[in-house]
Amino acid sequence: MAKDQGAMDKEKQTVRFMIEIYCADKHATAADGLCPDCRELLHYADQRLDKCQFAPDKPPCAQCKVHCYKPELRKQIQEVMRYSGPRMIKKHPLLAVRHLVRGWKGKGKK
Ligand code: SF4
Ligand SMILES: [Zn+2]
Repeated sequence: MAKDQGAMDKEKQTVRFMIEIYCADKHATAADGLCPDCRELLHYADQRLDKCQFAPDKPPCAQCKVHCYKPELRKQIQEVMRYSGPRMIKKHPLLAVRHLVRGWKGKGKK
């Protein structure tokens, strides 16, 4: 697998974990699935990542100044990241640290 593709796959995995944490806590969904709204958000996030202009060295979407999301879904993903970001450190520490480092690098802040 190309290095760039690997970075974007990790990014997608991070977003998926964050949405899963959020959905399990906020929407009381079963551990093995997402509610329809969160599934739609994940699908949309994957599509945005496929078209991201900063790939593969992108900032966390919640900190992106360009932000390519539709307003409503932008609000949803920001809420998910605010909630799940700190919780990721316990559940998926390596991905969480990687996500934070990308934020500090400040890419995408125009
Ligand atoms: S919000 Fe910014 S970083 Fe996230 S996919 Fe869109 S352009 Fe890329
Ligand atoms: Zn949900």
